[in-house]
Amino acid sequence: MDKESLSFDEALKDESRQYMLASFQWLSFTSLVLLTAVGLNIALEPGLNLGLDTAFTMMLLPGSLCLLYLGLRFARVPWSRNLLWNLFFLAALVISWLISMSLLRSAGLLVLPGIETLSDVLSLAMAVALFPSIKLTAATVAPFLLYSAFYRYEVYPESIYFTVLRTLFMFLIIMSAQRVIFKWFKKAVRRNVEKRRLLKHFRRMALLDGLTGLSNRRHFDEILDQEIRASTRTGHPLSLILLDIDFFKRLNDALGHQAGDDCLRQLGQLLSDVAARPRDLAVRYGGEEFAVLLPETTLTGAVEVANRIAKLLAKAAIPHPDSQVASHITVSQGLVQWQRGMDAEALLEASDAALYRAKESGRNCYVQTVTPAGDKAG
Ligand code: GH3
Ligand code: MG
Ligand code: MG
Repeated sequence: MDKESLSFDEALKDESRQYMLASFQWLSFTSLVLLTAVGLNIALEPGLNLGLDTAFTMMLLPGSLCLLYLGLRFARVPWSRNLLWNLFFLAALVISWLISMSLLRSAGLLVLPGIETLSDVLSLAMAVALFPSIKLTAATVAPFLLYSAFYRYEVYPESIYFTVLRTLFMFLIIMSAQRVIFKWFKKAVRRNVEKRRLLKHFRRMALLDGLTGLSNRRHFDEILDQEIRASTRTGHPLSLILLDIDFFKRLNDALGHQAGDDCLRQLGQLLSDVAARPRDLAVRYGGEEFAVLLPETTLTGAVEVANRIAKLLAKAAIPHPDSQVASHITVSQGLVQWQRGMDAEALLEASDAALYRAKESGRNCYVQTVTPAGDKAG
């Protein structure tokens, strides 16, 4: 998934999911620590005369569940990161904790203060772990609070108001803390989304030409270096066309800069249509000069592309009232095929020289550099 283009809602969902997946692991650790603490507490309690083994047997269910869960996560079993499966584990964890507390209670190993403390700690842990979801927070906190409330009512039926108030306040405090923390969480996600969007925008601005939407010189320099390195390694051909609008200054003078800009945009669109293969790159090289980089393409292929450009321009017939070569916009093109040992500068120099010769030969044509020694016009 491309994180840069996530909307706020999608990013919130994604971040919440990531947070909760980490939380389930944390809940398992916390549960194991709590189980050990309770077990030791019971075993060390004077007068109970019960070994660690009896206490641990009663806590076997949540303990083995957490160990199994952590084992699967550490073994990186793919489905262990599935949210539905994790929710199933969560439900099992809550139920097994309640069963364990009941066993400890009925064996007389934990009395009201112990059960209440355990319930409070567990509801707080659930709230911290699950705050990105109000439903999950409420659904996991409530069973523990209700469990200790019922137990308190059993022990002190006369103080029912205190029991109800205690449970209600605990629940309200936890749920309002959830709202506050979740608000900050959303703020952080929103800032992150905005930061990513800005970064994407700036990266685009740094690599694209604002007028035509083609790649700019900076991007071209980067890609040209990459392609030369690739061709050096693989020996595959690489060709470059440098092209320049004929008598563009006169078009500006005759029709104004706005019309000149429109013409540059149309040529930009035409070139990006022509550079159709995945690695082809159409570039605004500067002013009214453009380049088309053609990886995996020989000079013969580049000639085909140059002819297609001239043909499409003739078909588009963008009017040029003051050109000496046609009644519409035309371009002169310099074609060159990369030769082993040529760096980017040498390749650009060769295509620029070919372009210059195309201008000299009367414009609206191309010149191809066959070898560093000889040229051929078309
Ligand atoms: P040639 O056939 O020899 O290429 O002649 P030319 O008039 O095309 O070349 P010249 O270099 O004399 O003029 C280029 C013109 O391109 C001058 C400049 O005003 C114009 N130009 C460069 N960038 C832009 C632009 O972004 N928008 C517009 N409208 N014009 C531009
Ligand atoms: Mg020009
Ligand atoms: Mg020029």
